[in-house]
Amino acid sequence: MKLTTMWKDALGSLIKPAATQRYPFVRREAPEHLRGQLHWDPSACTGCGLCSKDCPADALEVIVLDKKAKRFVMHYHVDRCTFCAQCVASCRQGCLDMESDEWELAALDPRTFDIYYGNEADIASILDGSTEEEAEPAAAG
Ligand code: SF4
Ligand code: SF4
Repeated sequence: MKLTTMWKDALGSLIKPAATQRYPFVRREAPEHLRGQLHWDPSACTGCGLCSKDCPADALEVIVLDKKAKRFVMHYHVDRCTFCAQCVASCRQGCLDMESDEWELAALDPRTFDIYYGNEADIASILDGSTEEEAEPAAAG
């Protein structure tokens, strides 16, 4: 490259607006269909466990505390999730959703990626081991 061309380019780039973005100071809106962090709405959940069974990454666990009383806790391993949305498609009750604006999922503490959704008291009782998961009824033979 000729020296004059190089100087022209260098001076030109000084007056041109920056091509880079000022993230994280300026945060652009995420594309509408971007698959971000998974969220669970327990109101219609039946505890069927289909979302967990169909998850190819073993990233979801439906903990059934009391099926009759609809006491379920969803354990979501964000660090295993491939954001494929299979669980969203599998849930016939429409309980699962991936938020397009929740994509900043980097963290130093791995515990950040271990998420429990559900009733706070139920979650606490699972974590301290005072409540156990309800056993599946034995299949009729
Ligand atoms: S988005 Fe895919 S990988 Fe993530 S929890 Fe759902 S099924 Fe599993
Ligand atoms: S598939 Fe839907 S209804 Fe069944 S356990 Fe998962 S979230 Fe609940």
